[in-house]
Amino acid sequence: MRRILARSILGAAIAAAWLAPTASQAAFDPDAVVPTGPGVKVGKLSNGLTYYIRQNKVPARRLELRLVVKAGSILEDDDQRGLAHFTEHMAFNGSTHFRKHEVVTWMQSIGVKFGADLNAFTSYDQTMYVLPVPTDRQENIDKAFTILEDWAHGIAFNDADIDKERGIVLEELRTRKGVGERVNKVLMPKLFNGSRYADRSIGGTDESIRSFKADALRRFYRDWYRPDLMAVVAVGDVEPEELEEQIRRHFGPLTNPPAPRPREDVEIRPLAATEALAMTDRELPMNTVSLHYPVSYAPDRGTYGSYRERLLERLVGGMLAQRLVEVGQQPNPPFVAASSGIAQVTPRYRGYTARVVLGAGGSAPALAALLQEQQRARQHGFGEAEFERARKSMQRSHERSYNERAGTTSGAYVAEYIRNFVAGEALPGSEAEHRIVQEMLPAITLDEVNAFARRLIPGDDRKLVIYVGGEAAPAPAPAQLLAEVAAGEKAVVAAREEKAVASRLMAPPAVPGTIVAETVDQSLGITRLGFSNGVTAILKPTGFQQDQVLLGARRFGGQNLFDEKDLVNARHASALVAAMGLKDFSPLELRRMLAGRNANASVQLGADTDEIGGTAGSTPEEIETMLQMVWLRFDGVRRDEGLYRSYLAKEEELLRHRDATPQARFADVLVDTLYAKHPFEPRAMVLADLKKVDLDRSIALYRQRFSSARGFTFVLAGKFDVDRIKPLLATYLGTLPVPELPLAYRDVGLRYATGVVKQEVKAGTEPKSTLALSFTGPAAWSPDEQQRLEALVEVMNLRIIEVLREKMGLIYGGGMSGGISRTPWEHYRITASLPTGPEQVERMRAALFAEIERLKQEGPDQAELDKVKRNWAQNWQRNMRSNAYWVATLTSAALYGSDPHRILDQLQRAGKITPEDVKLAAQRYFNTQNYVQVVLNPEDPKAADKLAGPATPR
Ligand SMILES: [Zn+2]
Repeated sequence: MRRILARSILGAAIAAAWLAPTASQAAFDPDAVVPTGPGVKVGKLSNGLTYYIRQNKVPARRLELRLVVKAGSILEDDDQRGLAHFTEHMAFNGSTHFRKHEVVTWMQSIGVKFGADLNAFTSYDQTMYVLPVPTDRQENIDKAFTILEDWAHGIAFNDADIDKERGIVLEELRTRKGVGERVNKVLMPKLFNGSRYADRSIGGTDESIRSFKADALRRFYRDWYRPDLMAVVAVGDVEPEELEEQIRRHFGPLTNPPAPRPREDVEIRPLAATEALAMTDRELPMNTVSLHYPVSYAPDRGTYGSYRERLLERLVGGMLAQRLVEVGQQPNPPFVAASSGIAQVTPRYRGYTARVVLGAGGSAPALAALLQEQQRARQHGFGEAEFERARKSMQRSHERSYNERAGTTSGAYVAEYIRNFVAGEALPGSEAEHRIVQEMLPAITLDEVNAFARRLIPGDDRKLVIYVGGEAAPAPAPAQLLAEVAAGEKAVVAAREEKAVASRLMAPPAVPGTIVAETVDQSLGITRLGFSNGVTAILKPTGFQQDQVLLGARRFGGQNLFDEKDLVNARHASALVAAMGLKDFSPLELRRMLAGRNANASVQLGADTDEIGGTAGSTPEEIETMLQMVWLRFDGVRRDEGLYRSYLAKEEELLRHRDATPQARFADVLVDTLYAKHPFEPRAMVLADLKKVDLDRSIALYRQRFSSARGFTFVLAGKFDVDRIKPLLATYLGTLPVPELPLAYRDVGLRYATGVVKQEVKAGTEPKSTLALSFTGPAAWSPDEQQRLEALVEVMNLRIIEVLREKMGLIYGGGMSGGISRTPWEHYRITASLPTGPEQVERMRAALFAEIERLKQEGPDQAELDKVKRNWAQNWQRNMRSNAYWVATLTSAALYGSDPHRILDQLQRAGKITPEDVKLAAQRYFNTQNYVQVVLNPEDPKAADKLAGPATPR
């Protein structure tokens, strides 16, 4: 009996296990469904369509609309493979009220970007359409509901458009080709134990997309796009009555088919026996073993009982994860990384999964270490101290979301409602959820958690053991894997000991600094402080978030100040120092000490800059902790040989396989070509570099930059009171050491290749290519010039969608980006990255250059430029309410000594850009006599054959 219970990880039996009644639990009947909280209206139309409505003003003047259909690839018939996803594409190809592509064009005209904002997603069990709408005009809301309605029952499915879309979908499938797809092809039938999920891969196959009959597509739409399987979610800055009225008007008339096909959950059968499988593929960048324990049908019942069970799962999962991190920090780590816990397999099925990324020792030590931790938790449970920490952390994170409840974005509400529709998750609302957690969490005892862990974490249950690895080393035989797993499961392990940790980071400096200057800038809402040690701060108190304070600081300096021979150590320095802890505390001790406290600070050595970042909750204690962490970063380095060796071992293992992926080889050639192999070029680290890493040299370089805070302007944005935070800032920022140090960047002569330079990389076996272009050259930076360049890039991105994708069907995704840099020399760079098939690279390249030429000759239409500007307006609104954006903008203004006020009139200045400006920018920046082109093409088939074939299951 017990074994059966243990296997049905989340079956009713387990739910019953914690029901041992205690006084404080009495408030919540475990079998009672958690009532839906206030603020949201969940309704059902008479045709069965579910709707969720909520008025929400974050962000203002915006409405988030979704159409969710409980139909995905799992419902496809044999002649319909890939058509759930294809249907989603056809939604943008014409419908009752919109001509082909008109939805996209119209959305762009009101500032919504196709792909980034407007989009749709298909999965096994559902399809979701995403429609964000700026509500400044009533017409937008009306039109958006019409679009949503058209998607629900008015998609046109014209034969010609279907055929044209095949090309784009094939391009999308092409982007997914590669090692991941090859591995999945072998694993999915095993993971889903032969169920229908195994051969309903989302998107279908090249063959199914080329050959399906248009009628099969229409049949899918007819069968499954029906009101009883749909939900409309509408959350935003609109009166709820209007939203409901719109939903009734647009969706009330929808009807279900007379004899609807049953929509049932597809069964996943439990494993019949333990089995091991090993497969290799030479493009795999790491070796892993995963253990998949039997899945169980466990839909979320939305009850207090299931809510409490999730709390227990998270407590156990969090503690186990922490222990695995600890194991990975040994000087000779048995694995690079490991995880273990419950995973949602489908909306209705869950299962326990453990996974380990192997280290240099291979599968035996990794599996032993992983399974021993699972056994340790089962046999001895968790300790009082670690349980308290886990509980405190959970409490703090719940408190945080409670504190932020007024700022919950419409997008976050929407996600919650979709989870309710698709998976049955409860919707108590933040007030009630806060009360539930406040009562449930303290009532959970360690004994109960440990009993729960024994049932949750599998023992020697049936399982699927899967090794997936590269071909640098031979794969272990399945029998060997099984023996290693069995040994790990049988290990007798000791209970874990834990040392007590200090209760505080540091004593405040005995003599605090003083504030020697203070000015207020009303228009920006900022206060500038100067401290007695010469360090300065800019404070931007905001109410965007109730429980967030962000910190940032940048000054010139960075890696390039050092000699070429020091470059490797300079590039590793900040990560290496961070991996060893902070002052007297190891990373683990830090974590323990700070459990339940939301505060962090880190430093980074950039190429030309020294950088500091910090986050905290808004309690004075947390802000102080963050400032202490900043302070300690300047107060020496914790030297720890063991953690240093652990860091190197893990890096080495990752770098050893790095060249396996075609992307890595492509990236290397790209950098080498662009910078002509300059010693300071920003190339990725390779294995040979690791040999040059020296602990003491890295520490020395770090100390050269981070022993002094001279020249830093600390920017703080978030929820705080300026007067109350001042003493804290004076105490910590005002006492940072400030000895002299160089405060300029060094121009090491890194420049881009000139003329037209072309390269080809042959890597990867799948028929996929990428065209990468870089246009570079000198530029005179000004905020307006920067904006003109951005307009140019965005217009090109519209054309890439319009011409390369929609008209020519050459690509699925891809685009341009670019900007002007002020240091170490003033220059611009515009890059394009466009994936397509090998046989189409030349056509695509020609089409792109034709568009560039057209832009240089004719400039953009006013309509194109307006689309770009409307999108900027949307972004600007969002940015002005983001602490992170303010920190980034103010630190950058402080770094370059530029005027921060232009954050305010950015939009007006952008509005003045004319089509002529963009045309001139195109002539200035698209110099077709000066660019670097690197093409990634597949390897020659013969050369590839010589090496071991891909994806060989054993
Ligand atoms: Zn798609």
